[in-house]
Order: sequence, then structure tokens, then C-alpha cells
Amino acid sequence: METKILKGPEDVSGFPRTSVGQIYFDRIKSFEDKACFIEAETGDSITFNEILWKSVKMSSALRRLGLMKHDIVTIISATRIDYFVPYLACLYNGYTVNLLNIEFTAYEIERYLQQTKTKLVFTSLKALVKVQQVKSRCPCLDTIVLFGSSTDNVLDSERILTLGDEDVDNFVVEPVDPDTHIALMLCSSGTTGLPKAVQLTHTNLRMSLFQTGPNYMDIKRSDVMFYTLPINHVIHTLPMSSALIYGGTVVLSKRFEPDLFFSTIQKYKVNKMLVVPQLLNYMSRSSLANNYDLTTLTNIHCGSAGIHIDNIQKFLDRFPHCQFRQMYGLTESSGAIAINSGNGQYLESIGKVVENNEAIIRDFETGNMLGCDQTGELCFRGDSISVGYYGNETATRDAIDEDGWFKTGDVAYYNKDGYIFLIDRIKDIIKYKAYQVSPSEIQSVIMLNPDVEECAVIGVPDERSEELPFAYIVLKNGSKCSEKDIHNLVEDHLIYYKHLRGGIKFVDEIPKNNLGKIDRKLLKKIWDSEM
Ligand code: AMP
Repeated sequence: METKILKGPEDVSGFPRTSVGQIYFDRIKSFEDKACFIEAETGDSITFNEILWKSVKMSSALRRLGLMKHDIVTIISATRIDYFVPYLACLYNGYTVNLLNIEFTAYEIERYLQQTKTKLVFTSLKALVKVQQVKSRCPCLDTIVLFGSSTDNVLDSERILTLGDEDVDNFVVEPVDPDTHIALMLCSSGTTGLPKAVQLTHTNLRMSLFQTGPNYMDIKRSDVMFYTLPINHVIHTLPMSSALIYGGTVVLSKRFEPDLFFSTIQKYKVNKMLVVPQLLNYMSRSSLANNYDLTTLTNIHCGSAGIHIDNIQKFLDRFPHCQFRQMYGLTESSGAIAINSGNGQYLESIGKVVENNEAIIRDFETGNMLGCDQTGELCFRGDSISVGYYGNETATRDAIDEDGWFKTGDVAYYNKDGYIFLIDRIKDIIKYKAYQVSPSEIQSVIMLNPDVEECAVIGVPDERSEELPFAYIVLKNGSKCSEKDIHNLVEDHLIYYKHLRGGIKFVDEIPKNNLGKIDRKLLKKIWDSEM
């Protein structure tokens, strides 16, 4: 049996098994004072020194505001250079950080703040009104802090920094049990159901430091990394550790804008990047790229969704001086848990298991471990795997078996050299670009319309975005509900990437399997046959 388990390499990182806040604090202190994060849109920057003293002051200020170890602090913000100040302060103090998308609707913010029992929210101006609107319905929420400074009667992060009375030299990071203490919570619907709060411990987050380390992205102090992806996705740990653990400079961009994208690479001589397949494909095909000097780019890591080998090849033809590597991970695995670190070997593979983790391929029917070249469900166990979903033991038990194996819902096999190849996804989630969309969440919103009898949402293929949400809907007899009514309802309640861009079809019935559950496989076949 043992031989069917793929094991990650030995951990030679030297990172102590302690609070990840302590690891960050010690590393930031060791860097010379240069730009740590730069904002692409404005050129504004923050130095290592600034981030260090500000995070220490913030830590002390948050204590003075009455927050206690284990309290939950939510950050709702667009990408900004001071984003990591309250984040680090929370890690130092043993609070749990919860990250939400700035574009979430008030409906989504309310649900997630209630679900996580958030005590304090840091928010950018864009989400302030939404948070204020839902505050009275979130009984645990005491304090709202606006990022930056404000002239209105709102507590802001610049003002609360002045409450901090500790300094770097005598600052002490709160000790925690790294294996059980929750450092971070992020939304994921797992393999099925509504979005849940994935709990990541300090040990889990310690593993997120490996992805940009010597065996993989290998960030050095002289490196410049460019990050254009959402800051509330688990992938945010890459820019965080690139700068704050390995001393690189990270250019952050709020949104993708073609001219700004290429001009930033040229201006800052960016040499390393993390991209999603849609961005990689864009880089390969864009004629705009010809107007810029992109020759500094030497290292591209790509993850969060599948990429076809032809598209990898197209990219390498266009950027022959670049090394390309795939990485694979989930919210529940604290980011990348398999990385292709081979020198061009098996380019289409997601690579091998990272340190302190193991993988198996399991037969869907029997649950038995399978061997080399056999296809089944990819499962992981080890330091990267979440301890489960906050306040949801049933979902945790369904996801992680009694031997500690986490079921990814992805179909894969490994070859004789231990390289893993992903071939399908059997779980319910829809992937719209890097974003994860829960069909159940969209269904629950559609069901708010009293004219709807039942509905089923599936992901349908889309060349540009990977998948788009599509709804089959059964209406009650005599209903006059239109497609537009449904679109409006979904758009009022959910963020843009959960909108029904794939379409809507009114049908007489929704096919179910023998357990009475929606038969999504059959629905996908029906959709295929009708296209
Ligand atoms: P999330 O939790 O939102 O990061 O989504 C995790 C899921 O994204 C995985 O279970 C996979 O289905 C998909 N995914 C992540 N990385 C890759 C990759 N390199 N290739 C194919 N699918 C991926």
C-alpha cells in the first residue's frame, strides 16, 4: 500500500514550527529598507521598514480596541499596498483573518460576516456603505475601520495607528499552538453545497511560504514580481511571501488593464509572475505585447485552472526566454500543494507533491488507493491541508476522511516519475477565470423568486473564462417570470462573476439521480447536445 502514496520532499526550509506571524515578523526585520509593495496604477510604494513599524503599531492598537486572541477580523478591500498591515497585526496577535472580495454585494457580505462571527472589519471606501448597511444584522460585529484616512465620522486605519504604543524593538508576537490555531479563513464551497469558511492554521500558512521559496518560484531580494490577481483568494499568499519572507519587490495591480499590464512589466523590469491560464493565453496572443520590452520576464507560474499543452507551447514560442511551471492547489490546501519544478519536463503536469504532504489517487467506487497511470480522485494529506470548515462539522467530515485524506473532487493520475496529471473535475464548483462559483449559492438566490418551483445551475464551457454559470429553471404553473427577472435577481444579490453569463433555460423538470439529487452530469450532457 505504502508505495501508492506519493510523498513530498524533505522539509529543509528552516522555518520554525511556530506562529506564522512570528516567522513574518523575524523575516521583515532582516530586510534592508527598500520598496516592498508598489501600486502599479499610481507608483505609490511602501517599504519593509514602514510595513514593520505600522504592523506593530496596528497590533498594539487592535489590542487597545479590545480585541482578544481568537477574535475574527475581516478585511474587505481592493488590492492596496497597505493591505498587509492589519493582516500581519492580526497574525501577530493570534486573531483570525477573514478575507472578502471588495465587489461582494451587501447580501454576500452580510452572510459571510454572520457565518464567520466577525468582530471587526477593515474596509476600503468602496465597500464601506455595504458594511454599514448590514452591521445591525451581524451581532458579533463591533467595529468598522476604513482603510487610509477619513474626514468623516468613521474610524480609519491612520487614526487607529496612533493608538499603538509599542515599538519594534520590544514587540512580542503572541504565542499560539500552530497546529490548531486558526490564522486565516477564506470562502470555498468545497466539493459541494454553499460557500463555507475554510479554516487555515498557522501550520497551514507556514506551508504557503514554500511556494515562492528556493525549490519553486525562488524569489530573491533582487527580484520583481507582478501580481494582478484577486487579493482575497488563497493565491494572495504568493505576493505576500515573495516580499515579506524572501525580500523581493512586488508590484500590485487592482485590475487587469492591457496597457498598464505590459507597461508595468517594462517599467519595473518584472522578472517573475504568477498568472491564471486566461492571462497566459492573452499574453501569447496579444499584439499589444509587441510594443513593450518584456525580455526581463524569466519565470512564469500558472495555476488555479487547467491549461492545455498547446497553449503552454504557444506561450513558450512567444516568450522563449521564460521558464514555465504549473502549480495546483485549492483554498483547502493553503495554496499550491503540487508544483511542477522540473526543467521543462512534463509541462502539462501539475507537478509533484510539495514538502510535508502526501497524495494518493483513489478509486471512486471502492475508495481503494490506485497505482501509477490509474485514474481516480486526487486526495492529499499533510501540513497544507485545512482542519476543516468553520462551524460545519458535517462538511468537514465529508471532505476529510478518518485517515486525514482530503478529497479534492479532481480526477487525476500520476506517472512513473511521480508527476501528477489532472484530467477532470467531478465536484460541483464552477470555475470562472480564477474564481470559484458555487452552483448551490446561485440556486439559493434564484429560489428567492416565489415563481420558481426548482432550479439547477451548472458550469458550461467558455473559451475565454473556462466556465460560465447556466441555470435550468422550472417555474410554478401560471408564472409570468421572465429571464430578465432572474438575471436581475441574481445580479442584485451576487458578485459579477456569479452572474448567469452562460444563460437561462426554462424547463419542465430537473433530472435527479437515484438519491434525489440534481444530476449535473446529465444536465451537462443535455446542454452539450442542445448547443
Ligand atoms: P480554489 O479553491 O478556488 O483555488 O479552487 C481549487 C480548484 O481549482 C481545484 O480543485 C481544481 O479544480 C482547480 N485548479 C487549481 N489549480 C489547477 C491547475 N493547475 N490545473 C487545473 N485545475 C486547477
